[in-house]
Amino acid sequence: MKNYKLIDTHCHLDIIEDQGLSIPDSIQKAKGSGLEKMVQIGINYETSVLSKDLSQKYAKENIYYTIGCHPIYDIQADEIEKILSMIEKNVDDPRYVGVGEIGLDYYHKKSSPKSQMETFHKFLDISIKHKLPVIIHSRDAEKDTFQVLSEYKGKAFGVIHCFTYNQEYAHKFMELGYYISFSGIVSFKNATDIHKAAASLPLESILIETDSPFLTPPPFRGKRNDPSNLKYILERMFSLRDETNLEVENRIFENSINFIQRKAYYTC
Ligand SMILES: [Zn+2]
Repeated sequence: MKNYKLIDTHCHLDIIEDQGLSIPDSIQKAKGSGLEKMVQIGINYETSVLSKDLSQKYAKENIYYTIGCHPIYDIQADEIEKILSMIEKNVDDPRYVGVGEIGLDYYHKKSSPKSQMETFHKFLDISIKHKLPVIIHSRDAEKDTFQVLSEYKGKAFGVIHCFTYNQEYAHKFMELGYYISFSGIVSFKNATDIHKAAASLPLESILIETDSPFLTPPPFRGKRNDPSNLKYILERMFSLRDETNLEVENRIFENSINFIQRKAYYTC
């Protein structure tokens, strides 16, 4: 299989390791598949510290990281403070990409929408203070997520990671200035809404990610995911887009570089 120019903008090497593939092995496999860089995502204080450590330990392998507070956990006030202060301390670190995962998750319901909303605001506020992109997790909460991000229009920016809503919401978020990032779900046969979104957005607003170890694309669907599978997601994008494959490959790569360098996608 051909190697493409690729950046995995969202992976969880620590969770892949918990599921049996060591971090060095994941990285090696990813490099073998042609992946140039990857963004390791923090979801609480502990994993944010780990993500920063990985970016230093594997500096040569081009690991970038985020610091986040995932809405799937009921993260308490003292930990939130620690995460916020970790962000403050790392603003100037060139390997540090942005604030996230943060967002709203009304599917798992580990904490109330009200408390998720308060935390979400705290992290959006710190992102605009330092002009950092946000990495948004949103599940069964498109209306409220859109509502909150609309309040920050023109100030907050970043990516709607692992996009799972419909074409209409893809365009609404894109118009607020967010990249829309597609995971392995775009390769699932029955994901018609996601296909429509991926086909109709401006190419300039699209990112791809594995979100590994989750959401493995075919031909490995059902198995543990890792960043080396990103190429299958890119190939699915080829079939959904009107541009030439090379244009799609180059533009998504360029978008990913811009994202890592904390540049916003803006339409307005
Ligand atoms: Zn994730």
